[in-house]
Amino acid sequence: MDSVVIAGLTLKQILIYAGIGVGALFVLGFIGRMFRSGKPSPMHEVARCSNCSWTGQVSRHAPRCPRCNHSIQLGGD
Ligand SMILES: [Zn+2]
Repeated sequence: MDSVVIAGLTLKQILIYAGIGVGALFVLGFIGRMFRSGKPSPMHEVARCSNCSWTGQVSRHAPRCPRCNHSIQLGGD
């Protein structure tokens, strides 16, 4: 296996570096997904309807309950 040498690296070293690269990409992708799912969308916010107790994501621009059409007061900001 060590007999094949490309650009000063043996095939074994290339496979190790490729494995590390793929592993790093996988970990970064996983962390990125975790961060994205943890953060609410900038266009939407989780809110609770004071009229019918519906809870879910509503548009920040025009927060309105999809169940009873009651306008929702967004907390924060
Ligand atoms: Zn409602």
